[in-house]
Amino acid sequence: MERKVRVRFAPSPTGPLHMGGVRTALFNYLFAKKHGGDFLLRIEDTDQNRFVPGAEAYIIEALKWCGLVPDEGVGFGGDLGPYRQSERKPMYRKYADSLIENGSAYYAFDTAEELDQLRKEFEVRREVFSYDLHTRDGLKNSLTLSAKEVEEKLQSGQHYVIRFKMPVNRDIVEEDLIRGRVSFNTNQLDDKVLFKSDGMPTYHLANVVDDHLMNITHVIRGEEWLPSMPLHILLYESLGISENRPQFSHLPLILKPEGKGKLSKRDGDKMGFPVFPLLWKDPETGDISRGYREDGYFPEAFINMLALLGWSPGTEQEFFSMDELIEVFDLAHVVKSGARFDPAKAKWFNRHYLQQKTPAELAGLFFPFLNEKGISTDLDHLEQIVGMIQDRCEFVKDLWEQGHYFFLAPESYDEKIIQKKWKPDTNEKLQSIAELFETITEWNAEAIKESFSTFMTEKEWGFGVVMVPIRLALVGSSSGPDLFAIFEMIGKEETIGRIRKACLVIQ
Ligand code: GLU
Repeated sequence: MERKVRVRFAPSPTGPLHMGGVRTALFNYLFAKKHGGDFLLRIEDTDQNRFVPGAEAYIIEALKWCGLVPDEGVGFGGDLGPYRQSERKPMYRKYADSLIENGSAYYAFDTAEELDQLRKEFEVRREVFSYDLHTRDGLKNSLTLSAKEVEEKLQSGQHYVIRFKMPVNRDIVEEDLIRGRVSFNTNQLDDKVLFKSDGMPTYHLANVVDDHLMNITHVIRGEEWLPSMPLHILLYESLGISENRPQFSHLPLILKPEGKGKLSKRDGDKMGFPVFPLLWKDPETGDISRGYREDGYFPEAFINMLALLGWSPGTEQEFFSMDELIEVFDLAHVVKSGARFDPAKAKWFNRHYLQQKTPAELAGLFFPFLNEKGISTDLDHLEQIVGMIQDRCEFVKDLWEQGHYFFLAPESYDEKIIQKKWKPDTNEKLQSIAELFETITEWNAEAIKESFSTFMTEKEWGFGVVMVPIRLALVGSSSGPDLFAIFEMIGKEETIGRIRKACLVIQ
């Protein structure tokens, strides 16, 4: 019987989730859903030194905001928990012991100071120290000490670590589902620490044991973990659990907008775009990093943009809902080389999703924004306004930039336009138009336009002479949608009031 696809997103709670991390979660989610499988969230918090308060809650909230809701995991239940590694601590010991027993791992008693000293000595010789097959025989470990000495050290409670004994000169060859055949020679690899005497496993052991115990079928993770793959493969082998071990896929890096180097947090700060899904406040420094959510991106735009960072459908299609992504996603179309992040494209996607929304939906989103400014309006009226300016906006907040004059009279008037368009007789003309407006009883765009046109023909005034000054009086600048629609929305009294006020202010 075919195994049910099970994948996991396994972040370490060392800070806010970078957008690269969200993309990893997304690709795992899409793969799981495409194959009718499960998507798990496992928190890898074995390195307590790097634990950052609030990071786990942030990760969970970010996944929810993105619509990447796990089927199992921290905060989501499931039968194979706990899903937080620190709570699984007692489970790992026996795996470490079995590796010692079958000779795949050994105790090492070298102190941090001794290893530091060695590093320095190597540095002097312009070499890099590594605990590996070349050095292990000269160091303080259960390969070099007698069984009695080892026993004594263990009994006396001396600190130790358990290291993997990397086999000599073996080629580890694996078919990565994205990269194809990848091979490593074990002579290039060091003896990684798997377990510490405080009873905590390191990432490598915990990760492999948990993927096994949680029946993970596919590991889909960032490229930075590719060098760990041969060790993980050897761990499955040495633990005797290779049979059902997961298949590996390593996602390409996300590159800076200029196309070189990994996208970092600092790039966002420098160039003014978010790198994190949600705003993050550093608990220690209080520093704020902006988030896509708080910057006004729709989650569907963020997800659509992320999906195309390193994956392409093989067609020209660029807009995908989550369901469409699930339908067409496959690992074969994930590229090997880095994917360049383009902040302008992110905005472009947001613009698209904003245009997809109905004026009623957008009015609902804009309403609280106006409330905060102390402006009250009713939703029907707001919906009509939004419908008039929606196509000029990328973000909900742009509705204010594009439409503030619907709610507040301008406090100043664009000087350049005054210079160009406010002629000596403009005041007089506008006053008589205000008088005309007084006489209009049916205040809607069409009726106003009709009276206005008749009036203009009678007076033999060109539209061009008065339209820009009236717009200036109503809006404060020369921008905005159809002027007659603005008259209707703002209302008769307000329209006339603004025209008269402009005539007073602009002389
Ligand atoms: N805890 C690792 C991380 O923070 C997980 C890597 C993996 O998926 O194996 O990315």
